[in-house]
Amino acid sequence: MSSPSPFTPADEPAAPRFDASAAPSIVARGVSKSYVGGDGSRIQVLGSVDLEVRPGELVSVIGQSGSGKSTLLHVLGALDHPDTGEVSIGGQRVSSLKEEPLALLRSRSIGFVFQFHHLLREFSALENVMMPQLIAGTPTGRARDRARELLELMGLGARAEHKPAQLSGGEQQRVAVARALANRPLALLADEPSGNLDPDTSERLHDALFRVCQEERAAMVLVTHDLGLAARADRVLRLHGGQLVNVGPEPSGPAAGE
Ligand code: ADP
Ligand code: MG
Repeated sequence: MSSPSPFTPADEPAAPRFDASAAPSIVARGVSKSYVGGDGSRIQVLGSVDLEVRPGELVSVIGQSGSGKSTLLHVLGALDHPDTGEVSIGGQRVSSLKEEPLALLRSRSIGFVFQFHHLLREFSALENVMMPQLIAGTPTGRARDRARELLELMGLGARAEHKPAQLSGGEQQRVAVARALANRPLALLADEPSGNLDPDTSERLHDALFRVCQEERAAMVLVTHDLGLAARADRVLRLHGGQLVNVGPEPSGPAAGE
């Protein structure tokens, strides 16, 4: 199936970008999470969150600082345990997995993009994108081909041999996106990936991110404070009071306020 561009002009009928009948890649059911604050009191960050994201679907999550967006991504990405509820990735219940299969799930099926990319300074862009594949056991030649392909898709074909210090902030972030996609994850979780970039650079990053996620049918959850960017998703959810509320494709109006 060919994927239409996410940037269909408004006068063309927008074709669905993902198969709504496909089994969801990311499922959260009744997920709650609380922390004990500095004064010993418990802060309920996630109430009872339900979420399903299908292959090729882009869901954006907005919400005030401290509303629990990063906590939600950590729980969805099996970096943190929920207090109650269940997360499944590609049909695998995270809580049922022992340490080793859980590590495999994280490295092969889940891609993370953070605001600060943590590229390895000693290695080239190409090597940084090869690294997660080598760790997952991909042969070197195949890992290199895949890394080149992704860097091309990110518009960085000519920068493959550059080390992070020889790249701009936006280029480094695009390398980080390529790295997150290297193992063809079922789920791509992005936490304010352009938070420290200027608007033009940020737009290029997101164009590349959306395009590749769609082409590769990754289910994506994007946390952003940028309402214009959030509106480009298939669905916009607002995290407020520990609950995810659907604010539609257009997160404008008082319900969406940050
Ligand atoms: P957001 O990403 O929306 O800004 P976070 O998920 O980072 O929000 O944090 C949600 C709330 O949980 C905040 O009040 C934060 O202080 C608290 N919190 C996050 N992580 C921890 C932790 N490890 N220990 C205690 N409190 C935490
Ligand atoms: Mg956060």
